[in-house]
Amino acid sequence: IGDNKVFDSLEHRETYARDESTIKETYLPDLVVHPESTEDVAKVVKFAYEHKIPVVPRGAGTGLSGGALAIHGGIMLSFDRMKQILELDEGNLHVTLQPGVITGELHKEVERHGLFYPPDPASLDDCSMGGNIAENAGGPRAFKYGVTKNYVLELEVVIGNSEILRVGRRTKKWVVGYNMPQIFVGSEGTLGIVTEITVALIPKPPQIQTLLIAFPDEYSAGKTVSEIVKAQILPVTLEFMDRKSFDYVRDKAQNIPEETGALLLVEVDGWSESEVIEQTEKIAEICEKQNVIEIFAAFSEQDRERLWHARRILYTTLEENSQRVRSEDIVVKRELIPEVVTYVRKLEEKVGLPLPTFGHAGDGNLHVNFLYNDDEIEKVNKGVRELYQYILSLEGTISGEHGIGFLKKPYINMEQPENLIALQRNLKKVFDPKNILNPGKIF
Ligand SMILES: Cc1cc2nc3c(=O)[nH]c(=O)nc-3n(C[C@H](O)[C@H](O)[C@H](O)COP(=O)(O)OP(=O)(O)OC[C@H]3O[C@@H](n4cnc5c(N)ncnc54)[C@H](O)[C@@H]3O)c2cc1C
Repeated sequence: IGDNKVFDSLEHRETYARDESTIKETYLPDLVVHPESTEDVAKVVKFAYEHKIPVVPRGAGTGLSGGALAIHGGIMLSFDRMKQILELDEGNLHVTLQPGVITGELHKEVERHGLFYPPDPASLDDCSMGGNIAENAGGPRAFKYGVTKNYVLELEVVIGNSEILRVGRRTKKWVVGYNMPQIFVGSEGTLGIVTEITVALIPKPPQIQTLLIAFPDEYSAGKTVSEIVKAQILPVTLEFMDRKSFDYVRDKAQNIPEETGALLLVEVDGWSESEVIEQTEKIAEICEKQNVIEIFAAFSEQDRERLWHARRILYTTLEENSQRVRSEDIVVKRELIPEVVTYVRKLEEKVGLPLPTFGHAGDGNLHVNFLYNDDEIEKVNKGVRELYQYILSLEGTISGEHGIGFLKKPYINMEQPENLIALQRNLKKVFDPKNILNPGKIF
C-alpha cells in the first residue's frame, strides 16, 4: 500500500503501545499502518488473513478498557489519515464520514449548518467516530438524545477475510435482512473494521439553559433525578457529582457552598426561551422539595461553560491526583442511584481506596473511580468484583459505555451465561474465521 503508510521503528510502535485505560503494561504492535482508503485497509487485512496476523484497529486511543492495545502484537491499523467528512446531506439529514474524524470536529461541522449530532462522549475533543461506533459511545446528552447506536444508518466494514461490506441504508426506514449495522456497533473492532460511517442528524434546538444545583447530600441529589423523570421532564443532561469528586476540582470551579454534599448538572433545551424556562422552573420546584442549597443558572455560552468546567476537568484532575485511576461505568435503574452511592461509600471503607463517583445519573450510569497506586492493584480487583456483584444483584450492567476490551474480560461471565458467550464467539468466527480482528478482546 506504499512505504509511507507502514512503520516498524521502535519509536513509532511505542506511540501505540498504550491507550487511556488504567492498564499499566505496554503492548508493542509489530507494525503500525496508516491506511488512507478502504482499499488500503482491505489489502492489509488480506495479507493478515493469509499469514494469520492480528490486526488491531485504532482511532484516537482514548478507550478506557484496553480495546485498542495490540495484546498479541501484529498490525496496528491507525485511522489518523482517514479523517474526512465526505458528504453532508441536509435534505435527508445525514452525514457520511471516514472513521478517523474526531467527534468534536463532526459536531462543529454539522452545527455550522444548524444541524445536530448529539452523542457527546466527554472525550469528544480527542476520540474518533470509528472508536465511537466500536464502543457504542454515549455522553451526557444520551439522557434525551440517545447514544451512538441510535444514529447509525449505514457502515462500510472490512471483515476478517478482507471482504468489503456495506451494511444498512441511508434511508429513514429499512428492514431488509438482519439489522447488520447494529451487529458492528459496540463490537470493539472484533467483527469488522469500520471504514466509512453514515449517521443521522437532527435539527439543533437553539435555546439551552444549564443549571448547577447544590444539594446537602448524595441522597437528595439522587432522589431529585428520579423525581424529575417522574414529572415527565426531559432534560438534555442530568449529571451527578458526589462531594468526594467535587472536592478534587473545588478550587477550579464555581463558588459552591461549603456544606454541599452532591451536585447535579442539568441542561434543558428547546425551540423557544419560554419552553426552556418552563422546564427549568419545574425542575427548581422539584429541587426545593429535596432541600436544595443553591441553584446556579446560565443561558449564555460563556456562563454555561463556567458551570460545566468542573465536570469537564474532573477525570483529568483525578488522574493528576493519583498514580492510577480505574473508571468504572456501571448502570442501574435510575431510581437506584441513591442506593448505589450509599453502597459506594461503604465499599470505599471496605477496600480502603478513595472512590469518587460521578456520571450520567439520568441514564443510571455512574463512573465509580478507583484511585490507587500500583502496589494496591489487589484491593482494586477485589473492589471491582464486589461492585459488579452488587450491581448485577440490582439487575444492572457492568458497562454502559466503556466496553469490555481487555480490562473487563475476566468479568464478562459474571453478567452473561456461558451459552450466550459461546454464541457470540461463534458469531465472531462467521465474520473473522481466522481470529485476526482484535483477538483476545471481550471474550
Ligand atoms: C477523559 C475521557 C472521557 C471519556 N468519556 C467518555 C464518555 O463520556 N462516554 C463514552 O462512551 N466514552 C468515554 N470515554 C472512552 C472513549 O473516549 C470512548 O470509548 C471512545 O469511543 C473511544 O474512541 P477512540 O477513537 O479513542 O477509540 P480507541 O481507543 O482507539 O479504540 C477503542 C475501540 O474501538 C476500536 N476501533 C477504533 N477504530 C475502529 C474502526 N475504525 N473500526 C473498528 N474498530 C475500531 C478499537 O479496536 C478499540 O477496540 C472517555 C475517555 C476518556 C479518556
